[in-house]
Amino acid sequence: MRFAVLGSGSQGNGTLIASGDTFILVDCGFSLRETERRLALLGVSASDLSAVLVTHEHADHVHGVGLLARRYNVPVYLSQGTLRGMRKPVEVAGFLECGATLGIGSLQVSAARVEHDALEPLQYVISDGSRRFGMLTDLGSYDARLLERYRDLDALLIEANHCRDLLARGHYPRFLKVRVGGNQGHLNNHQAASLVAELGWNTLQHLVLAHLSSKNNLPHLARQCFVDTLGCDPDWLQVANQDTGLDWRHIA
Ligand SMILES: [Zn+2]
Ligand SMILES: [Zn+2]
Repeated sequence: MRFAVLGSGSQGNGTLIASGDTFILVDCGFSLRETERRLALLGVSASDLSAVLVTHEHADHVHGVGLLARRYNVPVYLSQGTLRGMRKPVEVAGFLECGATLGIGSLQVSAARVEHDALEPLQYVISDGSRRFGMLTDLGSYDARLLERYRDLDALLIEANHCRDLLARGHYPRFLKVRVGGNQGHLNNHQAASLVAELGWNTLQHLVLAHLSSKNNLPHLARQCFVDTLGCDPDWLQVANQDTGLDWRHIA
């Protein structure tokens, strides 16, 4: 099993999870052409995709979904709420809800509901039957029930969206600061690191920090916060960025 990131941040998101000839793309926040380009850099063609899963209706996650699905005939799975929230509806292969599991090729997907200012946002844990990859972005808070769904992961991609101080001191209008920092906004570095500490990280082969704000965060601040909280090796942490994403990582 392996995963890669096409790009991560408020300008567009896409995460690729693969096992054998099964390729699942989670979110597609880029134009069709840009998605094709980023997939090609990872050695994948859009026609290889087995499915697209959508987390929620915000443009940085859905921008290219409809066109990609139509052009390449890729089945799309999302929650009913997400479909309702999308400005341009897509043809849906099946609906997901919190707690649901879905088999796609050699991978199994399970969906978890998160706290975010969207209609029915889901995040996903994807398994090949022996290894578990979890992704957790676009959430403002978490509880024990959510953590339960993310136990015993072999790899985790987690949002470290902003630094609390940079957000407070930055140029965002007040309403946006409240939204981003609120319980249905985005995790700050400290919250994300605490979540991983609570979850336990001794089974993790990979820990990837994602969805970093280009205005209210810096990669070295996010990294340092995790190092301080977890006591982990800074070189072990990986950061998925907006322009180049993250190259393939294998889960052994
Ligand atoms: Zn987002
Ligand atoms: Zn969002």
